[in-house]
Parts: sequence; structure tokens; C-alpha cells
Amino acid sequence: MASSNRYPDILHFINGIWVNSTERRSVINPFDESVIGEIPCADTTNLDSAVSAAKSGFLVWKATPPAKRYQIMMTAIKLIRERIEEFATVMTLDQGKPIAQSRLEVLRGCDIIEWDAGEGLRTYGRIIPSEPNMRHSVLRQPIGIVAAFSPWNFPMSSPARKIGGSLAAGCSLILKPPEETPAAAVLMAKAFADAGLPPGVLNLVFGDAAKISSYLIAEPAVRLITFTGSTAVGKKLAAQAGQYMKPVVMELGGHAPVIVCSDADPESAGSLSVLGKLRNAGQVCVAPTRFLVHNAIFEAFTNAFALKANDLKVGDGLNPENQMGPLANRRRMEAMESLAEDAVNKGARLICGGKRIGKTGYLFPMTALADVPSNARIMTEEPFGPIAIINRFHNLEEAIHTANSLPYGLAAYAFTKSAAVANRLALELEVGNLSINHFTASLAETPFGGVKDSGYGREGGIEGLMHYMITKNVSHLMQE
Ligand code: NAD
Repeated sequence: MASSNRYPDILHFINGIWVNSTERRSVINPFDESVIGEIPCADTTNLDSAVSAAKSGFLVWKATPPAKRYQIMMTAIKLIRERIEEFATVMTLDQGKPIAQSRLEVLRGCDIIEWDAGEGLRTYGRIIPSEPNMRHSVLRQPIGIVAAFSPWNFPMSSPARKIGGSLAAGCSLILKPPEETPAAAVLMAKAFADAGLPPGVLNLVFGDAAKISSYLIAEPAVRLITFTGSTAVGKKLAAQAGQYMKPVVMELGGHAPVIVCSDADPESAGSLSVLGKLRNAGQVCVAPTRFLVHNAIFEAFTNAFALKANDLKVGDGLNPENQMGPLANRRRMEAMESLAEDAVNKGARLICGGKRIGKTGYLFPMTALADVPSNARIMTEEPFGPIAIINRFHNLEEAIHTANSLPYGLAAYAFTKSAAVANRLALELEVGNLSINHFTASLAETPFGGVKDSGYGREGGIEGLMHYMITKNVSHLMQE
């Protein structure tokens, strides 16, 4: 059982009941590598029960009046907001992010569910004009049981997307939270149960990701697959879902370019870029990664970046003074070391950082590499950590061409005072999200998602909610 009294027992949540398994895996604190808890690993019996529960939960929830669904979701949100310190502490313990960032993520997760709850009241159909005795009605109905897979980088806000969308649309769901950062999902399920969510509407199963996804994708009652994670896994799951003709929402990787034009203020853009990059220690699919800086302001930008980066306090996320915590797992830390070393060996200039901090835990400093050659692995591999590439461009065509040159297309950023340049970038960058003069990529009310290898489908906004619904056209020829 959990070794820290601050860390909850992690159990499956099936049909409103907390369920254990004999096979269990450890959960590690990435700051000191101590074992803080365990997850149960679902077997086929657990998965069968989760599907039965979701079937009965769906029948109850789709028949629940939208206003009642709204009220239960809002009660859960109120409870989560009241329990923010409990949520934030466990998220910092298992994921590593600074406690202030954990708190912000909890609030962001609440905003997402709250927005979905409200929008669930407005999933209107329509009447299409026709001859007097004919009525063409368009109905929106919940799609059915959702299988949802959320990643370890956002233990609260990613499940919030999937829970908010499912519940607002009238669906039930089976969520597989991340095996490495499972606690926030458990606390969320508890809050929904305390708020009066009927049993079987929200189910959690933990364990072997591939085993659970293969089972749920093949299960006929499951009607939608939503996955946030790597492009490699997303492609596998989309291919599996294709065999069963099931729709998928895929929020995958990115390698976001940041175009810093010659009219931008290099000092403020450089220092703001560090703040954009440090969120979640760079383990964000929309993390700014390829800084493409106009040659005229290149040195000033790079110096400002290094100045701010060297000033950061990196350490235990539970210490409120630290601005960046450890990476979430050993894989990421080793990937950072290897990507930085490879780039330097191929001729990149190391501006700051580059080597892990200490010998225990997964601390890695903010790192910047300048003038990185195109054959360095980091130029095409998503770092998913605190490494920034700072390269120069001489004209906008070149910057746009470089920005669009990778198979990824999730987020891009630009710094410019020119409305004409901003408009051109908006038209020509091949991404799902473009932010100009700031680093916020998504809100509860805005559609978020990628193009190309970054996936398809959207989370957030009215576009996001529509994935959880089917559109049915009813044509009625009225008789005397
Ligand atoms: P990974 O590809 O093994 O796992 C990524 C996520 O997918 C994990 O949460 C894991 O539980 C889940 N997963 C893995 N195989 C699965 C399967 N068969 N079915 C269902 N879920 C499965 O890699 P990783 O080492 O955990 O993370 C590395 C890469 O993943 C990063 O470099 C980044 O590109 C990507 N990633 C992206 C996001 C995102 O927000 N888009 C989040 C986390 C990780």
C-alpha cells in the first residue's frame, strides 16, 4: 500500500466500487526515486466488469436530464476546488512539477469540466426547412461508451478533457489513467462519486497500457477512442480502431516552432520564452522547441534566454521556491542527456544547461542549443523536456519553410508587431494552434489539436464536445 500518507491508495474504480488486483506496480517520486505508491494491474475480469459497468452507466446517464448532469458535474468541480491542496500535492509527488503549477493544473482541469458541463446544456439539434408536411430534424445524441487514455504529463487536465467531454455529452467512460502519475485521476473519481455521479458512468482501470487498449478498442460496446500521448502509440491505436471502424481523437506529439521576427523585442521574447519552456519542465506536447530567430536579433535573444535560464531554481516541486521540478521519469532524463550530447557532437553551441543535476532523481536544467545543424537528432525528434533549439533565419519564407518542414503540426508561436506578418503566418503555418506574442496554446473554450503526425480531432471548444456525440437526421413525412 501507499508508503506516503499524502499519497492515496490507487485502485480501479468500477461501477462505483474501488477494486484491487493482485498484480501491482510501483509509483516512483521523480524527485528522489522513492516508491510512493502502487497501481493495480487490471486483468480480463476487471476489464469485463468495467465494460458491463459502463454499459449500465451509459443507460442511466444518457437518460439523466442535462440540467441534472450539469448539476452533478458542477458539484464535483466545487469539491475538487475545495480539495485543491490534496490534488496539487499528489500531482507534485508523482509527476514532479512545482506545486504552483500543480495548483494551476487543477484549476485548469476544473475550468475545462465546468465549460463542458455548461456547453452540454446547449448541444442543440436543428430543423432544416422543408415542404410543409416534411420535417428534417437533426438530433445530437451521445456516442456511447468512451475508452480514454490520458498521459503522465498532465495527470489532471488531460483526464479532465476526456471526463468533461464524455459526461457533458451523456456518455459513460472507461479511463486508463497513466501508470506513472495515477493519483489525480483517483481523486477526481472520488470527487465525482461524492457529487452523486451514478455508478458505472466514470470507471478507472490501471495497468498494462497495451493490454487495456487492445481489449477496449476491440470491445463492441466501446464507441469512441480518445488518446493523448506519443505519435508512435497514437498511430498504433488509430490503426487498431480502424479495424473496428471506430472514431478516434488523437492528441499526439509536437515540435513547436517559435518564429521571432526582427521587429520583436529580443530581450522580452527571450526571457518570456524561458517561462514558456519551463512549464512542466518542457514535457508538454505544445512546448516551444525550435526557436527560429531573425539574424538581426539572434545574439540579443540568445543572451536574454541564457540569462533567464541560468537564473531558474530547479529542484523539489514541493519547495515553493523552485520554478522547475524533475522530469517525470528516467526515460525523459536519459533522452535529454542523449539529445544534448548528440547535438553538441554534431556542432551545436551549448548556451546553458546540458547535464543532469545530481545523481538521484531526474533533475535536468533548462538547456539551450544554438546554431544546431540539421543532422542533429533533436532537429526532428520531439525532445519533450527542457531543451530549446535556437537557430537563425534571414527572411520569412525561410522561417515558414523550416517551421513546416517536420511531420508534426500541433502548435506554433510567433513574436512580431506586424499584423501583416501575423496574418501570413496564420495562413501558412501547418499547425492546429498558433499563438502570437504569447505562449498560451489552449483554453477550455478553444479547440485544441493537431494536423499531420500530431493527430486529429479536437479537445475543448464546441468542436471537442462534438466528438462525443453522433449526428442523426430524422426525416418525417407527416400523415393525416
Ligand atoms: P510512450 O509512447 O510509451 O507512452 C506515452 C503514453 O502512452 C503513456 O501515457 C502510456 O501510458 C501510453 N501508452 C503507451 N502504449 C500504449 C498503448 N499500447 N495503449 C494505450 N496507451 C499507451 O512513451 P513515454 O516514454 O511514456 O513518453 C514519451 C513520448 O510520449 C514523449 O516523447 C512524447 O512525445 C509523448 N507524450 C506525449 C504526450 C502529449 O501530451 N501529447 C504526453 C505524454 C507523452
